[in-house]
Amino acid sequence: MPQDKYSIFDEMIEGVQIVDSDWRYVYVNNTVALHGKYNKQELLGYTMMEKYPGIENTAMFASLKQCMTDRKHVQMINEFNFPDGSTGYFELRMDPVTEGVLVLSFDVTKQKQAEYFLQNSNILLEEKVKERTAELTAKNRELEQFAYIASHDLQEPIRTVANYIGVLKEDYGHQLDEAALKYLEVMNRANQRMSQLTSALLDYSRLGRDREIKTVDFSKLVKEVIDDLSQVIKASAARITVGQLPVTNAYEVEMRQVIQNLLTNALKFKKKDTVLEINISCKEKEEAWQFSIHDNGIGIDKVHFDRIFEIFQRLHQRDQYEGNGIGLANCKKIVELHHGHITVESEVGIGSTFFFTIAKNIK
Ligand code: ADP
Repeated sequence: MPQDKYSIFDEMIEGVQIVDSDWRYVYVNNTVALHGKYNKQELLGYTMMEKYPGIENTAMFASLKQCMTDRKHVQMINEFNFPDGSTGYFELRMDPVTEGVLVLSFDVTKQKQAEYFLQNSNILLEEKVKERTAELTAKNRELEQFAYIASHDLQEPIRTVANYIGVLKEDYGHQLDEAALKYLEVMNRANQRMSQLTSALLDYSRLGRDREIKTVDFSKLVKEVIDDLSQVIKASAARITVGQLPVTNAYEVEMRQVIQNLLTNALKFKKKDTVLEINISCKEKEEAWQFSIHDNGIGIDKVHFDRIFEIFQRLHQRDQYEGNGIGLANCKKIVELHHGHITVESEVGIGSTFFFTIAKNIK
């Protein structure tokens, strides 16, 4: 009798069942009875359709039929709705046997639930990231708006101060003593500086506003920037080498500014008594182009690596090196418009390499 023949399966953790060609239960072990939420006697001799009405319309039944007809091994994960309304997941391995089909079932409900939980968590996480990104973008826009208004509206009073300093000097200069004239000169220089800073801030807040994607030949672009800087290059006697550069989509006007800023810095922060050497190159990564601009200049202490990309952050006095500390902040903003990152590797007294990436799929 089949029940005896298969009784070694009775206590197996995996479910074991045999159905004949009429879909009648010939054998079920304890686990199948447990999973199926019927006791053994309630199942044996009955057809699957009698016990689980509608089962003939399920994917599991289609696999059973396939195994029964083709007499070949079939495997699947089955979502099973129990008569009490709960759902379970079983990995089913079906094999043809003399009586019909033998089905081995493994309860994978817990794994499946964990999988679904993970999927849901990922969806939730993605939604949270989207939400936060939207918040950040809005905040950034607000800040840009503020920088724009502040710098734009400051220009008028700065111009007025400059005008009145001029008038004062011209109309009353002959009545002022040397010290007073010197104070006026200091005020004038400070005012000029304020004017430079506000217009730099205005440019920063406007960056990329009217940007336009173009197919950019970077070899050509770099050559043009080098030509534009030829006077400074000559004066610093720098040796510049350029590796192979790509032709790729980018915001051309803004990218020109990045290359120009990085090259200007490499030329500016040079070591005395050393021939300045600068190398510009590019590596292809999976989803981006990674450009690098290397110099053998004064270098930067590691502690300042993040700070230098912030607006108006400088490591030197203006009487040592000219500048207003906005060049790298501009570069960062432009590189981010290209879905890229800008970083620096550097050692004091040895030199610096600035790396920036631009995504390949910018359209
Ligand atoms: P700026 O050049 O006007 O000072 P940047 O934003 O371009 O402003 O640079 C910020 C600071 O980073 C510079 O003041 C300088 O201290 C440092 N720096 C940038 N590039 C280099 C470089 N190639 N070598 C050494 N220091 C650098």
